[in-house]
Amino acid sequence: MPAGRFAPSPSGDLHLGNLRTALLAWLFARSTGRAFYIRIEDLDRVRPGAAERQLADLTALGLDWDPPVLRQSERLDRHLAAVDTLTAAGLTYECYCTRREIQQAASAPHGPMGAYPGTCRDLTDAERAAHRAEGRPAALRLRSQTTGFETKFEIVDEIHGHYRGLVDDFVLRRGDGTPAYNLAVVVDDADQGIDQVVRGDDLLASTPRQAYLATLLGLPVPHYAHVPLVLNREGKRLAKRDGAVTSADRIALGETPRQVLALLADSLGRTATTPAELLDGFTPATLPLEPWTLDPQNVVKSIRNP
Ligand code: GLU
Repeated sequence: MPAGRFAPSPSGDLHLGNLRTALLAWLFARSTGRAFYIRIEDLDRVRPGAAERQLADLTALGLDWDPPVLRQSERLDRHLAAVDTLTAAGLTYECYCTRREIQQAASAPHGPMGAYPGTCRDLTDAERAAHRAEGRPAALRLRSQTTGFETKFEIVDEIHGHYRGLVDDFVLRRGDGTPAYNLAVVVDDADQGIDQVVRGDDLLASTPRQAYLATLLGLPVPHYAHVPLVLNREGKRLAKRDGAVTSADRIALGETPRQVLALLADSLGRTATTPAELLDGFTPATLPLEPWTLDPQNVVKSIRNP
């Protein structure tokens, strides 16, 4: 069965922006007859108890999902098998660069913007041995094409249309041996049969990398919809420090989960207090395309008392 998903990182509580993305992912999946999965992306930045609280907050809003809830950390063998497949095809190389070295090289005149500059792409065996002898841990990078060190790949996004973006020699396995996000997400989406990826548009720029990688691994490229983020009063991405932004914060102010849902519905131009009401008549074509700007201290009165 085709499926959509929401894939939170358990680094803390979900804020209204994350909750809105989860609601949209649910609406996209359920309105198209898809299964809907939750995947806990716990390869880094794990705060104890956060995953459980995230699931409880989603349930309280009225969202449901299909089992199992997958944890990325339980799937390392699948991720690393994909890395091995790429290595066997000659599509990876070891990189000994530090973050600082990459920043310096990438900011050199004529360097590609934001791309890994290919420093370690053609190291000789002797150079590699010298780096190892220095005790530098090696990350494994994708050899993104046979010449040069960057390429472009086009994806189609339900909201952004045709989007062409950079595919550089990005990291597949980090220096500590952990699979990198761009690799894990591709392997997990494919293994779970996920053919619809709805997430915040801060990830749009990474998507050509992921779609290119899926293609190299012979995996299907999902349909994408990158939804606008929620911004604070200064026009910056909403963050915890902006005030009462998590479900727990809103409930502490005396709101019910239904009122939180009503606030999210309002941001979508709808009046509703349950996801099921929103599902009725949901079409991506009517989604507001502008980011939703939220002042957590100044939530509309009528929404507080629906
Ligand atoms: N785990 C990522 C995040 O919380 C989302 C990844 C994705 O949806 O592909 O930002």
